[in-house]
Amino acid sequence: MSPIIDPFGRAITYLRVSVTDRCDLRCVYCMAEDMTFLPKAEILSLEELDRLCAAFIRLGTTKIRLTGGEPLVRRDVMTLVRALGARLGDDFRELTLTTNGTQLSRHAEDLAAAGVRRVNVSLDTLDPQKFSAMTRWGKIEKTLDGIFAAKAAGLAVKINAVAMKGVNEDDFDGMLAWCGEHGLDLCLIETMPMGEIAGDRADQYLPLSMVRSRLRQRWTLQDTDYRTGGPARYYTVAETGRRIGFITPMTHNFCESCNRVRLTCTGTLYMCLGQDDSADFRHVLRGGASDDQLDDAVVAAIARKPKGHDFIIDRRHDRPAVSRHMSVTGG
Ligand code: SAM
Ligand code: SF4
Repeated sequence: MSPIIDPFGRAITYLRVSVTDRCDLRCVYCMAEDMTFLPKAEILSLEELDRLCAAFIRLGTTKIRLTGGEPLVRRDVMTLVRALGARLGDDFRELTLTTNGTQLSRHAEDLAAAGVRRVNVSLDTLDPQKFSAMTRWGKIEKTLDGIFAAKAAGLAVKINAVAMKGVNEDDFDGMLAWCGEHGLDLCLIETMPMGEIAGDRADQYLPLSMVRSRLRQRWTLQDTDYRTGGPARYYTVAETGRRIGFITPMTHNFCESCNRVRLTCTGTLYMCLGQDDSADFRHVLRGGASDDQLDDAVVAAIARKPKGHDFIIDRRHDRPAVSRHMSVTGG
């Protein structure tokens, strides 16, 4: 099946699905401590999510990433993972997950058995105290256990770390060495201005260009054209043989090659991470749409995909550029 092409000539082959807005952590850059979560009636059932994913697969989606909130805190989420895993085939090539790792040791083997081959695990620091401070409620041991369980189950693991000025900016040297030791790739992410949080984002923003030059004092970062279909720019670390990626939405426009759309757990499809326009699929699903009607609605939504985001940090008011939290769309 040839994929849907958006108005700017980009093939849309990647669907990210936030399966829940809930989470067992409260990372400072992502959520406020006292978040209000959505009522159950608004959340799509796992069957509804599977049906919607199936429509995207029919229309040429080759990769689906489950995210959240924390995807592994959704009850029975493995039912959805198995259903989607059963859809893997010639065109639909990859089912994957972004997780904070706290529940991963319980699920790693089942994920592998369902056809998941790679997972992204968020880990912003290796310092236990700092980890607890950054996640507000987290214990690093649980996430580390999850990472090692995933590796033992044969999953490739990539570590995602959000860079925060004055918080974890000195940790990346050590993390790169640790990832090398354990055979993990590392991907650093700039803080994006999404959703009200308790702190001041403009103060925490750290351009990754600075981090990269600092890392270059110790490590040899070799250019590579490796791509995961995402916005990260990758280098091979000569000393470890592993990769390091940089996602720089704030300092570099990553929209030209955007191949993705994002579905929330309420069935809202966002065509761009950094824009508010959306399409409501819960209404379509619950209104008794046939598969053909569902497909038509997907095609119509993608026809509205904008050219790009306009993230800027409003320093005077420190208002987020996009009012919804990252946990709504899952990054
Ligand atoms: N709970 C899972 C996790 O933490 O990996 C999945 C959802 S989380 C929203 C997905 C990714 O978004 C994580 O890697 C997280 O660090 C990142 N993230 C959250 N808020 C962010 C922000 N304001 N700017 C940049 N990245 C953010
Ligand atoms: Fe939860 Fe992930 Fe957001 Fe942290 S980044 S609060 S783990 S959803």
